[in-house]
Amino acid sequence: MSVRVRYAPSPTGNQHIGGVRTALINYLFAKSQGGTFILRLEDTDRTRYAEEYVQNLYDTFKWLGFYWDEGPDVGGPAGPYVQSQRFELYRQHAEQLVAMDKAYYCFCDEERLEKLRQEQIAARKDEIGYDRHCRNLSKDEVARYLAEGRPHVIRLKIPLEGVTVFHDRLLGTIEWKNEDISPDPVLLKSDGFPTYHLANVVDDHLMGITHVMRAQEWIPSAPLHKIMYDAFGWEMPELCHLPMVLGQDGHKLSKRHGATAVNEFRKAGYLPEALINYVALLGCSYEDGRDLYTLQDLISLFRIERLNKAPAVFDYQKLEWFNGQYIRQKDDATLAELIRPWLVDAGLRKPEDAEADALDRAAMPLVRERLRFLADAPNLMAYLYRRLEMPPASEFVPKKLDEAQAALILREARQLLEEYGLDDIPALEERFRERAAAIGRKLGDLLMPLRVAITYSKVSPPLFESMKLLGLEETLARVDAARELLERCREA
Ligand code: GLU
Ligand code: ZN
Repeated sequence: MSVRVRYAPSPTGNQHIGGVRTALINYLFAKSQGGTFILRLEDTDRTRYAEEYVQNLYDTFKWLGFYWDEGPDVGGPAGPYVQSQRFELYRQHAEQLVAMDKAYYCFCDEERLEKLRQEQIAARKDEIGYDRHCRNLSKDEVARYLAEGRPHVIRLKIPLEGVTVFHDRLLGTIEWKNEDISPDPVLLKSDGFPTYHLANVVDDHLMGITHVMRAQEWIPSAPLHKIMYDAFGWEMPELCHLPMVLGQDGHKLSKRHGATAVNEFRKAGYLPEALINYVALLGCSYEDGRDLYTLQDLISLFRIERLNKAPAVFDYQKLEWFNGQYIRQKDDATLAELIRPWLVDAGLRKPEDAEADALDRAAMPLVRERLRFLADAPNLMAYLYRRLEMPPASEFVPKKLDEAQAALILREARQLLEEYGLDDIPALEERFRERAAAIGRKLGDLLMPLRVAITYSKVSPPLFESMKLLGLEETLARVDAARELLERCREA
């Protein structure tokens, strides 16, 4: 039987790391088996639903670059893939369970349920829940209430005793005492909306889902689902609950730990390849001694057996490391294109500008090693685009020297630049070395004021290559401006 798995998010928030991890594992499993990966929108919670979250879902996965074979936007044989378009199916199936005496109508109104809650709280019962009042209504009573048009819900009959046993591919056999399952959960609400349990089970069955891979926090739902599969006489898909993703402090990964929404990583200039690579490693190992995997590698190496039971800890620094690795792998043209939106946003260049394109490409060898995120680009590259605010004079002065000496050093540097130009960088560097020796200074002391003059910072991308990109005229102008600043300061 061909594998069919699904990612079934509720569009009640933006896509976050946990969701992407679940989707990715499902995708990798499907693709490694030649199976089908499905997206199903579980949009029955209308109070927290927002259209923008659906859009965010599509945008996120388009950006990440792995996508479903069947889903609301791409269609498929098992649609519709949006639960709010399937309400009739859920109602039919709930009625079917009632007809089979596996579920029942409950006519209790909110008032009665609230009173029950208050009584249970007052009696300090540890089990707060429905008292199964309507489970034993006679057929006649039910018929009469229905005829009267009384509002009602449909509840699942949880067996009163015994245990429910199900198997999880990772966690093994799990036994759940039926008395520990919430007494008779609602399947269909009075407004005709299904609950998560009903819609989830009906859809997994009707969509031919073979494996349910989802976060471990869903385990408490599994016994209930097992009871429903048994009630319908359906085979339950194989369950595989994925290890949790925790923050460094051992609590479930959340906003407190830092960015969790994929959007935020994207805006900060992470590459999708880095995110996919790192997220795929959360709770799963592929090969010893290796960190970098393309999506194709991950597909060919993925095995359920390689998933861990233990929770995974999300390490922001590790992710940053991956990002740097993937940035380093890009060729100049690609990387220049990737950083373009950030440079445009920072007002350094226009989107369409061939000259700027050429500058960016030429600058990539200089900045590539220094980019942790694409968003670092404007800061690193601004000096190539325009003159920046001059740092204070003291910034130009090498240790143990003063402003006057720094100004003299810039005079020396200017002479060399004028004399030899920027065409032959290695030769020019050699001239600087010779000149440093001749005037009895360290090469570093000769270059330091020059670096600040050109890049406005003591730490910068390679100095000689930067001057070459700026051109001789601009280079000399910056040297002069810095020297004037230092001389002014000597006069003052
Ligand atoms: N709609 C559920 C969620 O938001 C799906 C859980 C499941 O995969 O069964 O995660
Ligand atoms: Zn009732």
